[in-house]
Amino acid sequence: MKRARKMSKTPEDIDEVVRRLKKAYPDHRVALDHGNALELLVATILSAQCTDVRVNQVTRELFKKYKSAADYLKVTQEELENDIRPTGFFRNKARSIRGACEVIINRHGGEVPDTMEELVKLPGVGRKTANCVLANFFGKAEGIVVDTHVLRLTKLIGLTKNKDAVKVEQDLMKIVPKKDWIDFSNLLIHNGRKVCKAGRPDCEICVIREICDWGKKCCPRKPGTSR
Ligand code: SF4
Repeated sequence: MKRARKMSKTPEDIDEVVRRLKKAYPDHRVALDHGNALELLVATILSAQCTDVRVNQVTRELFKKYKSAADYLKVTQEELENDIRPTGFFRNKARSIRGACEVIINRHGGEVPDTMEELVKLPGVGRKTANCVLANFFGKAEGIVVDTHVLRLTKLIGLTKNKDAVKVEQDLMKIVPKKDWIDFSNLLIHNGRKVCKAGRPDCEICVIREICDWGKKCCPRKPGTSR
């Protein structure tokens, strides 16, 4: 008979992670500047393999020129590529943005849809982008955003052994209460940017080190502390 795999983190641990990170990052909104759902969708597509700071620099001008889904189709593919070039992978990103805008116009009357089912049908939009728009613009928790930071931190903390983003999301949806789905990923992303950087986590100053598997290994609890 197969033995059940022991959960390394309890619901109390998850609560504590959320509580501590909320205290550390009271303003943990998504870092991508946007004024409407289309802008957040475009910014999220541009954020693949690119920093949010760079995306915000590019979108500051981009959103003055492209105000509706139709605007992205009025220009040539090459013109849009040039406008988003600094974010990298600009050919694929331009293709995704224009493809998504075409579907938004033809099937949704020019408005970004607000369901997972419809969002993931847009070209270039996977669950990460869909979750990001649903959570941070529509306030809907249909899943959990799993970006590069969430992938890295959840593994280090000991919340999943999976590497694939969709499987990690499924693991998280089982252990994180639904009320925390939106905050949870935004909080991990903030901690990933500021403290738990790729390849050089600063566990000494991390507020969740006593709960994190990696933090416990490299910064063991000091005598007399509560956890
Ligand atoms: S304790 Fe260290 S490894 Fe764990 S989340 Fe914090 S910085 Fe990252």
